[in-house]
Amino acid sequence: MTTNFAFPPHSIVGLPIVGSSAQFPVRRIYCVGRNYAAHAREMGFDPDREPPFFFCKPNDDASVVPVSAGATVALPFPSLTENYHHEIELVVAIGKGGSNIPVEDAPAHVFGYGVGLDMTRRDLQIRMREQGRPWEIGKAFDYSAPVGPISPASMTGNLSRGSITLEVDGAVRQTSDLTHLIWSVAETIANLSTLFALRPGDLIFTGTPEGVGAVKPGQTLTGRIDGLETLRVKLV
Ligand code: MN
Repeated sequence: MTTNFAFPPHSIVGLPIVGSSAQFPVRRIYCVGRNYAAHAREMGFDPDREPPFFFCKPNDDASVVPVSAGATVALPFPSLTENYHHEIELVVAIGKGGSNIPVEDAPAHVFGYGVGLDMTRRDLQIRMREQGRPWEIGKAFDYSAPVGPISPASMTGNLSRGSITLEVDGAVRQTSDLTHLIWSVAETIANLSTLFALRPGDLIFTGTPEGVGAVKPGQTLTGRIDGLETLRVKLV
């Protein structure tokens, strides 16, 4: 029986899957904070002293922006920020759920990988952080999560190395390698699954390397990770 909603519910966001006509249905969006040592330092923290920590972004069709292969998608500039930052990240797409997943079992829970941008109103995030308040207004706003196509792990293997870069209007702003992740993909899945029961459709943004910075309307952001589809958005 079809549920009789009072008004049409929002639709589930689908991400393109490389080599398939099916789409990846997005459930929750988990994000890891400060998962590259050089980025932790640029944000004023000691990377050696912190276990992984997590925050979330909304999963609705106003927040997640699917970006197809070869496309340049318009990304609306958010309100109330003077310091809007790019954060290029490896996104892990979960295909099999679970709780308390051992590190050695974690790869079997991965559906695939994509390139994402954890767009951030840095001024609002830092203001909230200094007041000991939640980060949502800095991290969980509309159009804050552009994500490219998901490449199945059956095609890519387990990603643990490879360059990760972000260009703004063709100039490289962020460049690192997945080997510099403090918490690997498998360790992140294992840790996160002690806090939340993971389910198919969940996305994990694994953190950004150093070089985050401000962008302006009119600029084009290009994110690349070895072996994955390029992500490109233009700020409007
Ligand atoms: Mn981030």
